[in-house]
Amino acid sequence: MYKKVHLRLTILCAGITAAIMIIMSFCYLFVSEAGLYRNQNNSFKNDMNTITTNLEHQSVISMEWLSKMEAQGNYTLFVLDNGVPFLYNQLTSLPESEKYELLNESLDAYNNSFLTLPLSTASTPYTSDHVEFEFTFSQNQEKYFCGVTQIERGSSLLQVVVLSSLNPLKQQILEQRMHFIFINIFAILLLSLFSFIFTGKLLRPILENQQRQTAFVASASHELRTPLAVILSSAECCMDAPIENKEKFLKNIKKEGLRMSALINDLLTLSNSDSQSFPIRKKPTELDTLLINAYESFEPLAREKSLSLSIELPNNTLPLCNCDPDRISQVVSIFLHNAICYTPENGKIHLSLFYKKGIYSISVKDNGIGISDEEKKKIFDRFYRAEQSRSTKGHFGLGLSIAYEIVKSHNGTIGVKDSVLGGSEFFISLPSS
Ligand code: ADP
Repeated sequence: MYKKVHLRLTILCAGITAAIMIIMSFCYLFVSEAGLYRNQNNSFKNDMNTITTNLEHQSVISMEWLSKMEAQGNYTLFVLDNGVPFLYNQLTSLPESEKYELLNESLDAYNNSFLTLPLSTASTPYTSDHVEFEFTFSQNQEKYFCGVTQIERGSSLLQVVVLSSLNPLKQQILEQRMHFIFINIFAILLLSLFSFIFTGKLLRPILENQQRQTAFVASASHELRTPLAVILSSAECCMDAPIENKEKFLKNIKKEGLRMSALINDLLTLSNSDSQSFPIRKKPTELDTLLINAYESFEPLAREKSLSLSIELPNNTLPLCNCDPDRISQVVSIFLHNAICYTPENGKIHLSLFYKKGIYSISVKDNGIGISDEEKKKIFDRFYRAEQSRSTKGHFGLGLSIAYEIVKSHNGTIGVKDSVLGGSEFFISLPSS
């Protein structure tokens, strides 16, 4: 299920980004190719202007100059005097017959597309014009920019046909397209990898949460099954038992019922905290009074177990702490209850409160059985109980996880360490507001 969702999310994530990237690169490619074509066309037109202007001012055509122009622009150049070709370029690789064909076809294209406009009748001793167009050579389907310049001097007509092959441009465009394809493939691979890692990271907390929920439900059912089994068997025995023995079974049923009720209350508290509906009613609280009340409530229980419970409070008056007094009392009770449970007879428990720079610190130290470093990492987990305490009835391993949620909802910190008394020390820090 997780793998399927992970894969689908990866495909979705990579697919959408790849589609956007491909559309963008095609748009860019389109603009870039149009730009390349425009640049080549403009540069050809400029060269045609230069050739025409130069020819206009040359009384004798300089072959050297023409060859230079031809080589510079990689052109194929033809010069016709009164329609008779008299100069062929040396650069073109076309065979002689094809050169004729190329010239004839370009002139045909010129004659078909452009009516020879009457040349201007300016006061200059000559008149000239030039046109540029694109045409395809029928023999090899090669495309050319073609420019024809006509210069009329008296009765003679000089025509210069300049052809620029579009093959290099085509090649350049093709290379650019190939580069884009390779870059896009590489980017899609990278995107897929990134999406796989990214969605995996995104899903991990959901997966962990789901695993936690499953474990939570399994542990809760397990814990509820035991008292329920005792209740059912006691009820059955009670039905068959003589009247004088019934009380024993009824007491058992009541005891297990109370145990179940306590467990259900704990489960509800945690479930409320998970659904963010943990009711926290903060109000200005005298924490020293709160601790004295807790001390007074647990003192008889401690004395019953021959434990000495002591309290240490700051001498000066403390500022009020903005917290939920009932919830913080619950945390202190969990600590004290645990300390009493896990400290053997004649042991010591010390409850203390400190205040420094806007932070309240409450701690409960004992000289009980202590907690190993390995267990310290797990005791705030739900339903976790250290081996020694598993057999202790009435301990579900939920107390510290409830304390953790309460402190978290107060933006405080909670922790455990080895106590100077020899057992363990549980502490919380609370901000004053
Ligand atoms: P429980 O209901 O089992 O006490 P808690 O969540 O309150 O559940 O505590 C989890 C576990 O942490 C306990 O089972 C116990 O092993 C350990 N623990 C808690 N407080 C102490 C303590 N003061 N001394 C030793 N171990 C403790």
